[in-house]
Amino acid sequence: MDIVHITAELTPVAKVGGLGDVVAGLSAQHQKMGESVEIILPKYDCLLYDQIDDLEMIVDDFKVPWDHGMVDCAIWKGKVHGLSCLFIDPKSDEGFFHRNAVYGQVDDIQRFAFMSRAAIEYLWQSDRQPDIIHCHDWPSALAPVFLFEIYQQLGMTRSRVCFTIHNFKHQGLTGRDLLETTGLHRQDYFCRTDSLLDSQNPHVLNLTKGGIVFSNFVTTVSPSHAIEVMDEEQGFGLEPVLQTHRAKFTGILNGLDYDFFNPFTDPAIDINYDADSITDKANNKLALQKLFSLNEENKPLVAFIGRLDPQKGLDLVEHAIQQSVQLGAQFVLLGSSLDPMIQKHFKSLSNHYDDSQDIHLEIGFNESLSRQIYAGSDFMLVPSRFEPCGLTQLLAMRYGSVPVVRETGGLADTVFDVDYSKYPESQRNGFVFKDFDKTGLDSALNRAIHCYQTQPQRYLEISRHAMLCDYSWNQPAQDYLQVYQSIVH
Ligand code: ADP
Repeated sequence: MDIVHITAELTPVAKVGGLGDVVAGLSAQHQKMGESVEIILPKYDCLLYDQIDDLEMIVDDFKVPWDHGMVDCAIWKGKVHGLSCLFIDPKSDEGFFHRNAVYGQVDDIQRFAFMSRAAIEYLWQSDRQPDIIHCHDWPSALAPVFLFEIYQQLGMTRSRVCFTIHNFKHQGLTGRDLLETTGLHRQDYFCRTDSLLDSQNPHVLNLTKGGIVFSNFVTTVSPSHAIEVMDEEQGFGLEPVLQTHRAKFTGILNGLDYDFFNPFTDPAIDINYDADSITDKANNKLALQKLFSLNEENKPLVAFIGRLDPQKGLDLVEHAIQQSVQLGAQFVLLGSSLDPMIQKHFKSLSNHYDDSQDIHLEIGFNESLSRQIYAGSDFMLVPSRFEPCGLTQLLAMRYGSVPVVRETGGLADTVFDVDYSKYPESQRNGFVFKDFDKTGLDSALNRAIHCYQTQPQRYLEISRHAMLCDYSWNQPAQDYLQVYQSIVH
């Protein structure tokens, strides 16, 4: 199958969050399975150019209709970790992709609307009609609108669109003038509530909504989250449109790059291990205790790694720090926040615990340290209020750190309680709680710590089960192929 992704992010050259990981991981797996994959993204000035091989300009006079005129563009070709990429390089005065940042500009909507229009225009001009065009979140949500409302009439009748929503919180809201700028001239047609118009604000266009309405299939990043956003008020206003389009909407779990995240080969950790040598993992705990000047006893070590965002259940994290220590465990946190108030609060908490031999809070973003903590911890706490998929619990399991999670979104689809799950013993891999409050959290955390302290063999078995779970891209990549196959001509 011929698959083209249109995306604002791609790991590692333009990584902001999970979206970039998904495009890279899914594409790599599809390529391994023999599919043809190409990725179209902006040629940001801040791309990690040392990670791009064979970068060359292949077109330098390509014109994109924009704002009642034309914008000259170059197209560059290159390989990112073996994946074929096309980079869009507009030569306009606005310098759309010369801002030393992927997002965060006042004209983000225009920048990414341009990316979408240029991507489809380039495919058309170069006579390419991929079987599948895969779009991601609001930045490429207009691509299906351009394809089906402009380019189909020009003969691009073959391609079908799959649209994945990674985060419902950011929907790309903008004024109606974007229609004129992008060449979608039929105002009356597009400004309808069954089209691009936001369901809550009649003065505003909603790009994610457009992606849902105009794509052939829509996915989000876990089966449980698909239900939550449609039927349980977690769709940030998009519930009715998802309900209308439920026949073409599903949830597919994200996977992990099992080659990169592998405790058997990971150079960041002290001692490498796998499920068969799981007892060696204890050496990594000792290394972590030394690194953070913690008491070097064999106490259960609970960790939290994540954005310090209210979504992640920060009150519960703070409660868990005290509760763990009271129960005789240790606690390590690695996190950072874009919100200065939250960052300040956790920094002062970190100072407060500075002398503690059982608590260490590391405020900052540190990828290799995160892997040392996955390898060195016994439990990974993920008490999220909501969680579309969640990678933290998947990484924790890959490294044998038993997840303690709230039953929501992708956490509910990947962590199964060792005491209460309906699944067989061999598939149970963690401790789960339902209610988003301290009592709920304690119901899982207390069991977890108690299990480690009183049933060490059982704890080791659970940790092994977690390591043996397969949360690689193998299955999700098959699931996406099935979706593609259901919509191709
Ligand atoms: P989200 O995308 O909502 O932030 P996910 O669980 O999907 O949450 O992904 C978070 C990823 O970011 C994980 O790989 C986690 O290890 C990593 N991460 C989060 N915070 C940090 C940090 N402070 N330092 C290093 N890695 C972090």
